[in-house]
Amino acid sequence: MGLIIALNKGRIFKECLPLLAACDIAPDEDPDASRKLIFETRTGGHQIIIARSADVPTYVEHGVADIGITGKDTILEYGGAMGFYEMLDLGIGKCRMMTAGPVGVPEPAGVLRVATKFINITKDYYRQQERQVSLIKLSGAMEIAPLLNLSDTIVDIVDTGNTLVANGLEARATICDISTRLIVNRASMKTKFDEVNELIQQLEAVVAS
Ligand code: AMP
Repeated sequence: MGLIIALNKGRIFKECLPLLAACDIAPDEDPDASRKLIFETRTGGHQIIIARSADVPTYVEHGVADIGITGKDTILEYGGAMGFYEMLDLGIGKCRMMTAGPVGVPEPAGVLRVATKFINITKDYYRQQERQVSLIKLSGAMEIAPLLNLSDTIVDIVDTGNTLVANGLEARATICDISTRLIVNRASMKTKFDEVNELIQQLEAVVAS
């Protein structure tokens, strides 16, 4: 019985393929040269599903994938899932979830206007801070919101900080550290225990080296 592994498109996919290859899991076709979304693996009888990031937890929660590999930001944003376990930090895709605002402009008193794509993470953070906010949902390029005076602050992923600097913004508070995680469907943890466990142990060894 093979494993069904759901991976984020893009950055995570590129960084994960070498890790999986080191565990002898490789797609039977070049994913860059194909428009297929489900690949068989060359050995082991597994399947690799290429998904939109936000859909990886959904697939794993519903058990259509046994394993998902996605960012901690996606897992946190997905919310209190009961259908999967987070089993491993792959040590790649490291960055931080941060608040940021225009350089030298203090945050206004009163209700803070916050633009983000990470609505749940942002809500939780400001609830903990006991700060009243008005959330503005964007689907990307949050940096533009303060420039257009759509918001006072943004909540976004920061790696080098270059994107913030290029848009006249400065990082303020760190909400949490982010990296790529492996999640496992609860039922698969039991029904496919040996295969899941073997993959986790192999990946752990690859990550540690
Ligand atoms: P940077 O300019 O290096 O701070 O990168 C910031 C932008 O890159 C953010 O707006 C994110 O969308 C994206 N980014 C950087 N690192 C990651 C990551 N590990 N996972 C997802 N997106 C990232």
